[in-house]
Amino acid sequence: MAEVCDVVVIGGGQAGLAAGYFLRRAGLDFAVLDAAPEPGGAWQHGWDSLRLFSPAEHSPLPGWPMPRQPGEEFPTAGHVVDYLARYEQRYDLPVHRPVRVHGVHRGENDLAAHTDHGTWHARAVISATGTWQSPYVPSYPGQEKFTGHQLHTVSYRRPDDFRGQRVIVVGGGNSAAQILAEVSTVAETTWVTSRRPRFMPEGVDGRVLFDVATRREAARRLGTEDTGGVAALGDIVMVPGVLEARDRGVLHAEPMFTRLTAGGVAWTDGSERIADAIIWCTGFRPSLRHLRPLALRRHGGIIPTDGTRSIQEPRLYLLGYGDWTGPASATLIGAGRTAKTTVADIAERLTVPVSARR
Ligand code: FAD
Repeated sequence: MAEVCDVVVIGGGQAGLAAGYFLRRAGLDFAVLDAAPEPGGAWQHGWDSLRLFSPAEHSPLPGWPMPRQPGEEFPTAGHVVDYLARYEQRYDLPVHRPVRVHGVHRGENDLAAHTDHGTWHARAVISATGTWQSPYVPSYPGQEKFTGHQLHTVSYRRPDDFRGQRVIVVGGGNSAAQILAEVSTVAETTWVTSRRPRFMPEGVDGRVLFDVATRREAARRLGTEDTGGVAALGDIVMVPGVLEARDRGVLHAEPMFTRLTAGGVAWTDGSERIADAIIWCTGFRPSLRHLRPLALRRHGGIIPTDGTRSIQEPRLYLLGYGDWTGPASATLIGAGRTAKTTVADIAERLTVPVSARR
């Protein structure tokens, strides 16, 4: 089976849906191909207590703001999944699922997305596959010797699974702080980070992060002094669970261990800590395996872009992976802005003759 359209969007999470919203408004013929059987993107897979760090009104996709969740200031992940499912219905977005794109190939006049359900040919491709499917765990000597349980954030569900255990939580970001906060209520925890944890001021939420990222982008465009962006504020948002853990005195981090042993972890000074489990909250990498056939050069693990357009393959756009694909583009509130400029660029390129392009 072969399908032909103007634009193929790979990934039907928040970034792919935001692109769909603007593609619909631009009157382009498009398809969204999503590997997951159900709507909701990564929000379907978080741990049980995962919530947005912003109120619903600060987490809108374009066109239709997220409704408030009755009785909840910070919406649950389930509420976000419900919002995304209703969003794609509301705008009648042509999402095909489950359809996994195995590889994007160059054709003579188009790009071809080869999937487990046939091939889609398109004049432009937007890759919006997120990061959740590419968990990152750093390697340490002795990792294979450890006889306890090792898991990444993606496999963590609830604190009760660790009740009464000795647990090491690795990582200095939001996932680590939130998981440490709740596991420490039922288990003996040790928090290890490669640098001192940097807590954001109380009251910083998604809206503030969006504004800060926006100001940095404006400074970059104007060529004025770099404001430092979101990173200058810190790494960890003080959500209620983390604040409570701080007040309990458990937000104390040890430096990174240097190796794993059969029974736990060890530092260079010879000290050791016995552990039943190690939870690696060590982040994600962009899920870009499907772009390998294009043989794009990578720089520091990412594909160099001008805005969201690949410099090496101008028919390819990358959306939602992080600040390198637009300020705050990996957040709900930020996804819309980069989707808007991306679709405007595609619409212009698909209608303007090559000779007249910038
Ligand atoms: P995803 O939601 O991951 O969607 C990508 C989709 O692409 C998936 O459905 C996947 O199945 C599909 N896909 C992948 N590969 C293929 C392929 N080869 N072919 C076809 N389909 C494919 N943001 C906020 O705004 N507020 C928050 O409070 C917040 N908290 C967060 C907490 C955590 C723990 C994490 C990890 C992130 C948080 N974020 C938050 C960030 C952000 O909202 C999410 O990372 C978001 O899910 C990214 O959306 P996305 O559409 O880019 O990717």
